[in-house]
Amino acid sequence: ALNIPDKQVDSVCPYCGVGCQLTYNIKDNKILYVEGRDGPANHGRLCVKGRFGFDYANHPHRLTRPLIRREGVPKTGDFAIDPERVLEVFREATWEEALALAGGKLKQIRDTLSPRALAGFGSAKGSNEEAYLFQKLVRTGFGSNNVDHCTRLCHASSVAALLEGIGSGAVSNPVMDVTKAEVVIVIGANPTVNHPVAATWMKNAIRAGTKLIVCDPRRPELARHAHRFLQFKPDTDVALLNAMMHVIVTEGLVNQDFIDSRTIGFEELAKNVEDYSPERMAPICGIDAETIRYVARLYATSKASMILWGMGVSQHVHGTDNARCLIALALMTGQVGRPGTGLHPLRGQNNVQGASDAGLIPMMYPDYQRVDNPQAQARFEQAWGVKLDPRPGLTVVEIMDAIDRGEIRGMYIMGENPAMSDPDANHARAALAALDHLVVQDIFLTETAYLADVILPASAFPEKTGTFTNTDRLVQLGRQAIDPPGEAKQDLWIIQQMACRMGLDWRYGHVSEVFDEMRHTMNSIGGITWDRLEREGAVTYPCQHEGDPGQAVVFTETFPREGGRARFVPADIIPANERPDADYPMVLITGRQLEHWHTGSMTRRTAVLDALEPDPVALVHPLDLQKMGVKPGEVITIESRRGQVALYARADDSSPVGAIFVPFCYYEAAINRLTNPALDPYGKIPEFKYCAIRARRG
Ligand code: SF4
Repeated sequence: ALNIPDKQVDSVCPYCGVGCQLTYNIKDNKILYVEGRDGPANHGRLCVKGRFGFDYANHPHRLTRPLIRREGVPKTGDFAIDPERVLEVFREATWEEALALAGGKLKQIRDTLSPRALAGFGSAKGSNEEAYLFQKLVRTGFGSNNVDHCTRLCHASSVAALLEGIGSGAVSNPVMDVTKAEVVIVIGANPTVNHPVAATWMKNAIRAGTKLIVCDPRRPELARHAHRFLQFKPDTDVALLNAMMHVIVTEGLVNQDFIDSRTIGFEELAKNVEDYSPERMAPICGIDAETIRYVARLYATSKASMILWGMGVSQHVHGTDNARCLIALALMTGQVGRPGTGLHPLRGQNNVQGASDAGLIPMMYPDYQRVDNPQAQARFEQAWGVKLDPRPGLTVVEIMDAIDRGEIRGMYIMGENPAMSDPDANHARAALAALDHLVVQDIFLTETAYLADVILPASAFPEKTGTFTNTDRLVQLGRQAIDPPGEAKQDLWIIQQMACRMGLDWRYGHVSEVFDEMRHTMNSIGGITWDRLEREGAVTYPCQHEGDPGQAVVFTETFPREGGRARFVPADIIPANERPDADYPMVLITGRQLEHWHTGSMTRRTAVLDALEPDPVALVHPLDLQKMGVKPGEVITIESRRGQVALYARADDSSPVGAIFVPFCYYEAAINRLTNPALDPYGKIPEFKYCAIRARRG
């Protein structure tokens, strides 16, 4: 009788971009257990995070009252957080006092220095409505476009390439289309770990006859199910992909009708890949020429071939070039615009697609309307009733550099943890500590919140209602299941209160009012009403009118570019910004683990998930361990030019010899202290997937 729920609430999973639907079973304001629901992306399936990742909401470390930094307590980026001693650093305050200080100081910086002396980071884990209001606050209240979020660290380069080549940054086909494909290429992605339910659909497709090609410098679990596994050398994506295109062009496997009727720029691309024969590229990428030819022919000649990719492609200084090559592969073979084909950058966070769509990026208003386009500016000035700055704002890493230069003096961070997630995190922490005024809105005392002047206690995912857009462009309804603890408030309320302190007169009532305003400024979701979401639970965009079922497969007849044609963009080999050398002879690759989510603030406070993976680990090839004289389980120190961490070594031959993989979720071994902040010039994404390190025992 103790464990019989008194309430059931249908919602979606707060973790990855797959967007599994689930039902919370609740008793006494606690989630007892979670069950999978028959949603379009999961049909009842959940992974270990979706099943067990919820008790963080009731964790004793939850922030329950606003906090203000005590006078004279220094901000230091080098600390061990002790939640028991939080009141030595901060004092509790009323909401009125905290908001007055948080908003008042930002307003003062805006008025006395410049609107561009302020910046805001929103969150890909918040709802669409929160993302929309947050960016609107920065643009209309702060007065600049200095607003960004973790999409910059994730698929910004993929989006840059997709917008340039195809005219839309979103996926062309849903994940489930792998079941309609003859050939599927998964490159630079580890779906079993990062998109686990999507991986199950891939495995089902293989059973039904789909041929899976996995390309990755590390061997992901999915490689066990692959028809071919191409373990190319780290940092050689362009060599491999250009060699595949060389085969397709020279062997006449292109789809000439598609190229002629729907694209531009093919001749230049074809000329560029002339020099990239498989025989020349084989020693560079480490894949033999015959295998490159076989895979290229298979992809080009199947009736339906699909490409899915992840951060292994995007998080490089040549991430945009990597994605340009994938786009070109699909275009030259006409493998786009039909079921079972297309291009799918697997989205990481549960709402990174929606947050980007809602304008939580410095160069675009909602629906990817450029801030420096006078028509778009006029449209939003009319909708929002204020003058807007036509200059694109700064991106995540650029904001940290602007703090260094003294140009940015105040920040508002909602639900992001750059002290853990930014590259060269020591530098990011020093920059955050150097701000005149930092306001952090979160549910725990994160590493970033520890550097704040004011902390505003917010709501966890199950404590609020809103819409979330998954990797397939499905807009889904997440429903409130439990109440926030203590005096913690809903994020939408806090953003509005901050807006009022900045001089705006915002009076949104129910979250549906925000959604309604969004759909009137965003053509893509114009046909999705709140009523419809409540009725149907999920609707795919683009959705133009209320009777429109939504379009799961796009680009069927035209591309959203000038003249309706997609564009080929050639790419050449650009090496990683920091190559191994005599001092730092190894390579660091960072990423995620199945059990933990991003910076670990939620999953490391979840009993089951933390029990499964309790300690910081580095995955090291057994031969490298032998060379270091280290036994599995012993501590090693890894060092780059920017910092060092100590953590446990785990023998793992999925990493190539000379490359060490470390998840970025462990605060006690924050691996981003080591990563390289060098940026891709187009997407401004840092090179998380490659930097030079050395490692030693102890
Ligand atoms: Fe949640 Fe992703 Fe797991 Fe589905 S696959 S349950 S969305 S973490």
